[in-house]
Amino acid sequence: MNAARRASKTVTLAGLVLLFAASSSPQSAPSNASAAPTGTEKGIEPGSRIAGVIPGSIDDINAIGKRRIGGRGKGNWYSADTENRMGKLYADAINQSARFVTDPTVTDYVNRVGQKIVVNSDCKMPFTIRVIDSPQINAFSLPGGYLYVYAGLIQNAANEAELAGVMAHEIAHVCAHHAAREMTRLNYAQFGAIPLVMAGGWSGVALAGGADVAVPAAYVRFSRAFEAEADYLGVQYMYLAGYDPQALIAYFERVQALAASKPGAIAREFAGHSATSERIARIRSEIVRILPPREEHPVDAVELDAVKMRLAKIEKQRREGVEEH
Ligand SMILES: [Zn+2]
Repeated sequence: MNAARRASKTVTLAGLVLLFAASSSPQSAPSNASAAPTGTEKGIEPGSRIAGVIPGSIDDINAIGKRRIGGRGKGNWYSADTENRMGKLYADAINQSARFVTDPTVTDYVNRVGQKIVVNSDCKMPFTIRVIDSPQINAFSLPGGYLYVYAGLIQNAANEAELAGVMAHEIAHVCAHHAAREMTRLNYAQFGAIPLVMAGGWSGVALAGGADVAVPAAYVRFSRAFEAEADYLGVQYMYLAGYDPQALIAYFERVQALAASKPGAIAREFAGHSATSERIARIRSEIVRILPPREEHPVDAVELDAVKMRLAKIEKQRREGVEEH
């Protein structure tokens, strides 16, 4: 945990703090704003009840979208508006400095899969989803509805459900206000009543993949309890969107295996998402407890395969371009 909080300050962090101070100036909207959500495939009968589940609770998948998870209150000092503003601040900085995949075969597909999760989630805000041109296995979200998926994450997904699973986990961090709750926790421990964003000297996490931007560690490194909650909500969202929730486990298991054989392939921030046996057992038992079994129809991988081929081509071109200089 201490290591996770270790400061990795970058020059840009100071710039961002200044930027925040001057954030009254209007920021330009990201160029590829979120597309209209696609249709949903509900996996449950409306009004059906699951034994032992309290209606309206975090366990109740019938109440997804109507539940209030981690909103402003004792454990979250920040309004949705502040969360939005802070997420947008970093999203704008990332949008200016990261290298993105712009090929519509890739971006349309990833956006479609992500928006299908969003409409089946507890989030009420629209999401902007972008693909970062980096072979690393990584994905992160920012408060207010920004999701960044790295090309390497897509390349390592065996099927659409696995990709959807990781995106659902990241979307769940946003829906459950984990960044704001994490900052609230840190403020209690370290900064007393001073809002961390005003205190300035926080620990940042420099994002890989050409994004020379440091975001506050509290935005991308969460407590184990929040990670567990994101798993729990993530499998609910993917189930509701029509995906096999077991695929989330499958992907994290792959990350675990790769962490041993190819540690450099996984971003440091993402390494915390590998599948410990405890974590797998917990997700499995949660799936059994609250998600009614159904016959799963695996989504064929034709479209994902086409996306992967494009990404491989883009990466090859970039490598060759670099070698020429
Ligand atoms: Zn997470």
